[in-house]
Amino acid sequence: MADSKKILEMIRQMAQVIEEHKDELTQLDQPIGDSDHGINMARGFQAVEQKLPGLEGKDIGTILKTVGMTLVSTVGGASGPLYGTAFMKAGMEAAGLTQLDLEGFLKLMDAAEAGVAQRGKAAEGEATMLDAMIPSLNAMKKAKEAGEGTAQVLQAGAAAAWAGAEHTKDLIATKGRASYVGERGLGHQDPGATSYSYLLETIAKAYS
Ligand code: ADP
Ligand code: MG
Repeated sequence: MADSKKILEMIRQMAQVIEEHKDELTQLDQPIGDSDHGINMARGFQAVEQKLPGLEGKDIGTILKTVGMTLVSTVGGASGPLYGTAFMKAGMEAAGLTQLDLEGFLKLMDAAEAGVAQRGKAAEGEATMLDAMIPSLNAMKKAKEAGEGTAQVLQAGAAAAWAGAEHTKDLIATKGRASYVGERGLGHQDPGATSYSYLLETIAKAYS
């Protein structure tokens, strides 16, 4: 599915996509948060982008762990430690690997999801990024079990992530800043679920 070079290329594309959608992600954080999600993510991914040249030729585990540590150390908001944990856990799973197949990729995504749930003390249905992560992972596993190839599996994942992000409008947040607004958060899409959908869509597009 991917070697280290392809992983670096996808991370570069993620940084671009986050930059392109920075204002939109920040606006989503306005009614239910503190209007900084796009700013936080863009700051983190800009720092990641600067690390990429030094990561050429490294194994996938080292690349992902470095991305995670960079996000943790440069993003002040909740999303920094959460996305940072996701990448670091995926990196631990990929330690020493220079090639990743679809099955391996899904294992990394499992580790990332478990890391976010543990770090955020959150579960599905609490109007967070997990409401995009969990259904997308389930959809990808199902598509793989049905015999679909990488492109189809990733497309199914991205579609399920976007549906999950959309569904956060119907959920009352019980974790993070959005929990402070309670029912007034209804009708508003979670910024973290949205950024996650953009990131997974970026991976899917690399195979379309
Ligand atoms: P902050 O909330 O500190 O301002 P951001 O605005 O960058 O940080 O990120 C907010 C996003 O982080 C939310 O939209 C949500 O998806 C995610 N989030 C916040 N708290 C949690 C948590 N406990 N578990 C999982 N995700 C969370
Ligand atoms: Mg915020």
